Amino acid sequence: MRSPAGSTAIVVGAGVGGLSTACYLADAGVSVHVVEQNDQLGGRASRLERDGFRFDMGPSWYLMPDVFERFFAAFDRTPSEYYDLTHLDPHYRIFFKDGDQVDVTPDRERTKQLFESYETGAGDALERYLETARHHYEIGMEHFVYEDRPRLRDYIDPDVAQHARGLSLLGSMQGHVEDYFDHPKLQQLMQYTLVFLGGSPSNTPAIYNLMSHVDFNLGVWYPDGGIGTVIDALVDLARELGVEFSTGRPVTRIKGREGAFLVETPDGPLRSDLVVSNADYAHTEQELLAPEQRQYESEYWESRTYAPSAFLLYLGVEGDVPELAHHSLVLPLGWEEHFEQIFEEPQWPDDPAYYVCVPSQTDEAVAPAGHSALFVLVPIAPGLEDTPELREQYREAILADLAAHTGLDVRERIVFEKRFCVSDFAARYNSYDGTALGLAHTLRQTALLRPPHRSKAVDGLYFTGADTTPGIGVPMCLISGELTADALLADYGDGPHPHCDR
Ligand SMILES: Cc1cc2nc3c(=O)[nH]c(=O)nc-3n(C[C@H](O)[C@H](O)[C@H](O)COP(=O)(O)OP(=O)(O)OC[C@H]3O[C@@H](n4cnc5c(N)ncnc54)[C@H](O)[C@@H]3O)c2cc1C
Repeated sequence: MRSPAGSTAIVVGAGVGGLSTACYLADAGVSVHVVEQNDQLGGRASRLERDGFRFDMGPSWYLMPDVFERFFAAFDRTPSEYYDLTHLDPHYRIFFKDGDQVDVTPDRERTKQLFESYETGAGDALERYLETARHHYEIGMEHFVYEDRPRLRDYIDPDVAQHARGLSLLGSMQGHVEDYFDHPKLQQLMQYTLVFLGGSPSNTPAIYNLMSHVDFNLGVWYPDGGIGTVIDALVDLARELGVEFSTGRPVTRIKGREGAFLVETPDGPLRSDLVVSNADYAHTEQELLAPEQRQYESEYWESRTYAPSAFLLYLGVEGDVPELAHHSLVLPLGWEEHFEQIFEEPQWPDDPAYYVCVPSQTDEAVAPAGHSALFVLVPIAPGLEDTPELREQYREAILADLAAHTGLDVRERIVFEKRFCVSDFAARYNSYDGTALGLAHTLRQTALLRPPHRSKAVDGLYFTGADTTPGIGVPMCLISGELTADALLADYGDGPHPHCDR
């Protein structure tokens, strides 16, 4: 079995990485079957629809539109053939817990004035900061994100070395931001995006200031209908390319090797030449593979730093919520303690930083007339106990905190409510310790230090998704699918895969 065209592949899991890989492989002539344990496709980007409310269960920020353009272009399509985008204005609103409130808008001059109002010279510092962020983004995307560099010697490529010289790769985001801004609120503003990467300012390398380019320069967008519409688009595209799907079908074992895989499910085994796992990496290795087919011992997984889990509330609320923007963040003044309670001494945060999404501010289709759809996300440590009593207590605390700091008290107006927490992440997605996002982007878990796309233990077995490179987030997982397909097609193809030619 040495030609991808005509061979068969099973993709375990229908998250963004799995869907993306499926599209690239099907386009190369592989016969692809995606096998998903849940009834819905999309993985963490699933949808919750109830009583006329429609919630994105996970991702709600559509960032890096360039990545989506590039993905669809690989199949001679455009995102606009599948969904419409709205540029959000404001991008988001921040409530500081001292009563201060700011809107970050797409208007650069306004943003500079806002920064200047906190600290003399901060407007110009913002320009400089964003210029560095743009530089890091361009270099990062070209040399580290779109190119898989699985070996250390790949980094010795003179081209990369030349570009990387100016990058303060090893410093922390905390130190990097402090070089530009003194005011703690401005530091928070530049660092909140780390939550997308599942890190803290002290454990995330400074290269990730590229997230500010993503946020301030590329903008914050909303796909009409929510991120679920993007999943629909990926599934439609995959079907157009001939991908077959099974849902409600958990994979319980992956056996065999290149050309002769047996993928066991409760509905009977499936055979294939190749397997790509989009299920959590640790789950695949430890629960689906026999010990001799694993690349890592359990100590490896125990010693990793995991991105936070989350306490989530999906709320259907009567009436409007004018206090909130589409995206709002509520931030305590000092948030070191919050990060400490996630990463250092895991416990339910006493004074949490949290996020509220109100898609009904932009899209009236996501809530019944006269109602609003709210999604509250509190990052918390993975592995925490989350009994119904704890959830109830925390729900009370968060809704009281929301009322105190945003002026919005929804407690008497809730007509639909669902809670989702650590144990739900573990149960619904098989995620390690109930992490919401996977392996954090710490220095020792970045780039080639993340687990590989190609199994070193089993020929013909590949991995994709947030635990691999480039990492966490919908755009990153789309790219991860491309990198995984590239690796597979380079191994089995007659020459470089067309998507490798860039
Ligand atoms: C609350 C939350 C908010 C987020 N916000 C954003 C955001 O605003 N913007 C953004 O870009 N990203 C965001 N993210 C991150 C983003 O959603 C993820 O990084 C991305 O969707 C993960 O995709 P993945 O390819 O890793 O697959 P996953 O989504 O992890 O999907 C893996 C799939 O494998 C399935 N599976 C697991 N085990 C088995 C098995 N044994 N058999 C069969 N199937 C199996 C699972 O059910 C799941 O469907 C958010 C995530 C969460 C949870």
